[in-house]
Amino acid sequence: MRGKAQMIKFRFGKDLDIIKLKGGVINDPKKELKRIQKIQRLFETEENVEAVGQCYSCGSPRRNNVIHAKVAYAECESCGLVYATRRIKAEVIKEFYRTNKAYSSTYTSKQTAQERLNDVFRPKVQHVLDLHDQTYFPIEAMWLDIGAGGGHAVKCALDAKCMADGVEPNVESRRFALKTWGIKLMPKMPDDGYYEIISLFGVLEHVIDPIGLLKSAREFMMDDSAMVIQVPNYDSHTTNLQKTHPEFITRHAEPTCHLMLFTLPSLKIMLDKVGLKLYSVWHLGLDMYEEALHNYFLHKIPMKKSLKDFNKLQQPINEMGMGDDLLVTAVRK
Ligand SMILES: [Zn+2]
Repeated sequence: MRGKAQMIKFRFGKDLDIIKLKGGVINDPKKELKRIQKIQRLFETEENVEAVGQCYSCGSPRRNNVIHAKVAYAECESCGLVYATRRIKAEVIKEFYRTNKAYSSTYTSKQTAQERLNDVFRPKVQHVLDLHDQTYFPIEAMWLDIGAGGGHAVKCALDAKCMADGVEPNVESRRFALKTWGIKLMPKMPDDGYYEIISLFGVLEHVIDPIGLLKSAREFMMDDSAMVIQVPNYDSHTTNLQKTHPEFITRHAEPTCHLMLFTLPSLKIMLDKVGLKLYSVWHLGLDMYEEALHNYFLHKIPMKKSLKDFNKLQQPINEMGMGDDLLVTAVRK
């Protein structure tokens, strides 16, 4: 991979069965809103909360508020990273992630486990392996998934004949992975070793030291290794919806869990800081699902009705680079 194509490879969207994947929320959106609002009450206890004085990526304190969610999100004037200006303290959130079943339920629900495996994770794992197949990268790769959740990505990597390890601090998620897939996830990063693929699916936006995490993840890379990173995209249709109606936020600009939202340029800057460069970009997202949520909360339109043409309507959004998710691969500079 290294020293080969310099052009970034782009991909746009993928069809999915949104009704199967988000069935629980679609049947009872109010319950989901209440669940999130309950988590957001952590912000109401002053000793749980700390101010975020500077950008997580470049350290600049200069910024402008852009989304008025439960907590305001601001855009860094210097690098364009968007971040919540207040956050739940590390020890509070750590304990919360470690013990809170309500939060990890998205990732550990039995009903949706197979859908998440087949609809969400298998295409991502295959996407990465396909990219590598076009180069001299070995197909039976050593894969490390950091922030492995319920072990879905590790399971898919194993199914694809990779050797795969996963790191997951949440005890419930580790139990789920063991019970459901027979996979033993590690509670913390291995002391040393090398991997050909290191993935961070939906992880960077949750951590208070994304640069530190990327640096330590990079330590596991060889010359030809790739890092796979999925983060929420600020430059998205979902962001526009949430700016307009922040009272309905259940995901994306949700400050208890998403400390930051990325743009493609701000992600590039962060990668550059840790000695990585972009190899590929996949624009995808659930913006039309977000719109269906808004249609429900604003106009009482059943979500199933709004989601009838989900894939057809989502695809042009992805093609404009406005999907609410970015999945990139990066290699060493
Ligand atoms: Zn910045």
